[in-house]
Amino acid sequence: MRTPTALLLAPLLVSICLTVSFAQDAEKHEPVLDLSSMDKTADPCIDFFSYSCGGWIRNNPIPPDQSSWSAYSKVQDANLARLRGILEGAAEASGERPAYLQKIGDYYASCIDEKTIEELGARPLRDSLDTIANLKSKADLANVVGKLAHDSLLFDFRSDQDFKNSAEVIAEADQGGLGLPDRDYYFKTDVKSEQLRKAYVAHVEKMFELLGHPPKAAAAEAQSVMRIETELARGSMTRVERRDPKSLYHRMSVVDLEKLSPNFRWASYLRLVGRADVESLNVEVPGYFQKMNERIDQEALSSWKAYLQWHVVRANARFLSSEFVNENFNFYGKTLQGREQLKPRWKRCVEDVDNDLGEALGQAYVQKYFGPDAKQKALTMVKEIEAAMQEDVQDLPWMSAETRKNALEKLRAVANKIGYPDKWRDYSALQIKRGDEMGNVERAGRFEFTRQLNKIGKPVDRLEWSMTPPTVNAYYDAQKNDINFPAGILQPPLFDPASDAAPNYGNTGGTIGHELTHGFDDEGRQFDATGSLRDWWTEADGKEFEQRASCISEQYSRFVIIDDIRVNGKLTLGEDVADLGGLILAYTAWKEDTRGQHLEPIDGLTPEQRFFVGYGQSWCGNTRDETKRMRATIDPHSPEKYRANGVVTNMSQFQAAFHCKTGTPMAPEKRCRVW
Ligand SMILES: [Zn+2]
Repeated sequence: MRTPTALLLAPLLVSICLTVSFAQDAEKHEPVLDLSSMDKTADPCIDFFSYSCGGWIRNNPIPPDQSSWSAYSKVQDANLARLRGILEGAAEASGERPAYLQKIGDYYASCIDEKTIEELGARPLRDSLDTIANLKSKADLANVVGKLAHDSLLFDFRSDQDFKNSAEVIAEADQGGLGLPDRDYYFKTDVKSEQLRKAYVAHVEKMFELLGHPPKAAAAEAQSVMRIETELARGSMTRVERRDPKSLYHRMSVVDLEKLSPNFRWASYLRLVGRADVESLNVEVPGYFQKMNERIDQEALSSWKAYLQWHVVRANARFLSSEFVNENFNFYGKTLQGREQLKPRWKRCVEDVDNDLGEALGQAYVQKYFGPDAKQKALTMVKEIEAAMQEDVQDLPWMSAETRKNALEKLRAVANKIGYPDKWRDYSALQIKRGDEMGNVERAGRFEFTRQLNKIGKPVDRLEWSMTPPTVNAYYDAQKNDINFPAGILQPPLFDPASDAAPNYGNTGGTIGHELTHGFDDEGRQFDATGSLRDWWTEADGKEFEQRASCISEQYSRFVIIDDIRVNGKLTLGEDVADLGGLILAYTAWKEDTRGQHLEPIDGLTPEQRFFVGYGQSWCGNTRDETKRMRATIDPHSPEKYRANGVVTNMSQFQAAFHCKTGTPMAPEKRCRVW
């Protein structure tokens, strides 16, 4: 599955996720537009983000266990407290429980049982580590990687819709196998990057020592890991290169893949993952597998053992005793993200249940916190935004009739998914045992890996979601041509049907418009109404699109994130286009929704001003410096400040609402516009 284009950066590694130290008053709703979050001494025409969020930024310091803190994190945090209540209830329930409550309750109870986990130390990993230690030759590498495939050692393997025929589900192999967040981390030459690499090697060494390896051996093993990863990184594509789906499509036979990387026995691997029947697949990055092949030849067997053992520990350290948890946090939490403290165990456990049994937990969550009324109101807003887009496409002055016809066809085919799946995932094949934390994690990993591979050769399941219901995020999936809004994001203060319409449309309307516009950003526009990669643009319209999009990437590339690091406008282009298009659609939909109504100013703000402040406040947030640097490399979204300021800079409706003089920072002479 390709990563769908989401509203916010998804959790990675040890999860970049959200939250404060203790459950706040989860049920107290903040308003969608909060006056105390504004800074009315700031000039909205000079810095709209400070005007909307200055108070919020002062009043909301980053909690010690967080890498950043935002309007979205606060909702996520409140959600965690709600989910904790559900899980504690499920864990304690006596007598007969429905199967889904048994699974989430027993999983949570096992995870929260620190005493048992502590006593076991690294023992739960012994089988996996021994399997690797017993490797007799490099020719058997595929056997080990296949047996431990749920830990995604060395590369990623999954199913995906064929890019060029979205109705066919095929196997897919992709680059992977790195311990740092991106291939660029291995090559950047600035002082901070060099320090990070040193800290990483020291961390790997420490983990080997915790496994009982003598210090000298551990140091040599860490060097081997770094050497292998650096070469794998050299074969990996950059994030910007990966944004063009055409460059990720290389369907080939398994026979040809074996020719591409003959040192890895693909037939053995496929047999071990239960798909010996696969004859062809998409190899997203052939250069990666060539590099892998070369390394298998050139590195000693002992170096490969070190590499594989490291990745088993890295994938599972969070579920082991505290010395592993803490060392893992020291590097991935503190050094990389700047977090000061580990999250309390209950939060980590709630996140793990959400990760492994998200639709069982989500079922309980929506019963309590997402009624049919909220779903209906969100659907109404979605339909209004889609109507606004239809109008927009019909009137677009730069588009030919031919391309317009195809665009409208694609727009009409977009499927709307709101709140939670119509059909819940069946977890009956997944065994959850109370008191067996690592066993549960491993079985859940195998269950998910197998579930993905089981899709190969079957019809596409269009009802499936790739986010869980409590998730505070949203996404567009280009290969399914659908927009998805989990119940978690349709909550106050992000979405509140009881609020006055203006800020509600500025906030959630903007989010809906954002996801819809993804279908037509530089990446999404390459897929057609059925989700297949097919060019439906005339050449002239394609050129016009690119020119308009480059206005945006040039504009954003001037924004400074931290130090001398600027936004990589080519990496963030899809998101920036979606942010702008999304808010324009939300504005049109709001005007249509309130047509004929006489809207009065509230709290000294006109309805138009409230619309924009509602939008601005959706981006209120504080971020640690380390995390800013990391996101500059890996996050396809611009920093919050520019998601607010960049968008309004390009909207004449904003300049009119705040009477900004042309030439002020938020009202430049030249505006960009795509959709
Ligand atoms: Zn997005």
